[in-house]
Amino acid sequence: MAAPRDYYQVLGVGESAKTDEIKKAFRRLAKQHHPDRNPNNPQAADRFKEINEAHDVLSDPDKRKKYDQLRRYGAFAGPSGGSRRGPTSGGGAGGAGGDFDISDLGGLGDLFSSIFGRRGGAGAGREEAEELEVTVAIPFRVAGLGGKVPITLSMPEVCPTCGGKGGAPGATISTCAECKGRGTISFGQGGFAVNRPCPVCRGKGTVPSQRCGTCQGSGEVRVEKRITVDIPAGIEEGTRLRLKNQGPKGRGDVIAVIQVQPDRFFRREGLDVIGVVPINLAQAMLGSRIKVKTLDGKRVVLKIPTGTQHGQKFRVPGQGIERNGRRGDLYVEVHVTLPERLTPEEEAAVKDFAEKAGLKY
Ligand SMILES: [Zn+2]
Ligand SMILES: [Zn+2]
Repeated sequence: MAAPRDYYQVLGVGESAKTDEIKKAFRRLAKQHHPDRNPNNPQAADRFKEINEAHDVLSDPDKRKKYDQLRRYGAFAGPSGGSRRGPTSGGGAGGAGGDFDISDLGGLGDLFSSIFGRRGGAGAGREEAEELEVTVAIPFRVAGLGGKVPITLSMPEVCPTCGGKGGAPGATISTCAECKGRGTISFGQGGFAVNRPCPVCRGKGTVPSQRCGTCQGSGEVRVEKRITVDIPAGIEEGTRLRLKNQGPKGRGDVIAVIQVQPDRFFRREGLDVIGVVPINLAQAMLGSRIKVKTLDGKRVVLKIPTGTQHGQKFRVPGQGIERNGRRGDLYVEVHVTLPERLTPEEEAAVKDFAEKAGLKY
């Protein structure tokens, strides 16, 4: 397991930074490292993820407190509490006073799991809460207006036959010989050692005389679970929504990473929405009234003045995206379409017009 980077360093804030400061740093960095803005940089997505993780922990006072506690023990990369431990992953370092068993800290191993979900070391005998991360693609309109998006996820649930114990009905249960009932085996890597679930009893500490036929002894079965993701209005691409206790075994969280699908008609700039509307040559030259659709499907009438140019934008106030009490506008961008072919009569008319207007061609 690679030690996570120091979250304060990730966000570039001090240890005593206030929540406001953390949020500000997060917004600035998230903008800068957003994968959309760095399409040719494969590291941007990782960096973006890291920034989100750091924010997720440091902006939550409870998680931050736990994190700070662990950080004092040097569990994370980067300087902390004076001593610097190697953040190197892999290559079982060992020795040199660098070994550090997080399970020796009593409850801290559990804290570690509670902060980092599946990345943390397993608590002895206890099953850690697993996190399930899933990319959810949503239509542009839903991202703008908010809504509910149903998704179906395959995830482990407690086996209904054995209730998660892994034994066939009537099987005798004995202590696991591999881990001597501890449920974990110690495993050294990088700057400190972590406990891993025992592979023989899968962390249970016990083995049945006969395995449960439904789950093959794992204690869990995979199910297709349908859950609903609540999308707040104005959500941004790459936002990570945490759905508490909707994940594996009804306890883990689901992290929905939002991907906004592009729209044929609309695009977005902050809270403003830009919609492209085609108009014809006569409408552009002579002026017109056109009906345009807003993001939420309303139709509004827009006056096109005479002499409107291709690409000109017209503001429809208050029809943009609403977020935190602020509301953007809709800008209708008109695109003038020209006839591709002319009849001889039309051609004569255009030539006539060109002569009168003094247009060379
Ligand atoms: Zn079972
Ligand atoms: Zn075992």
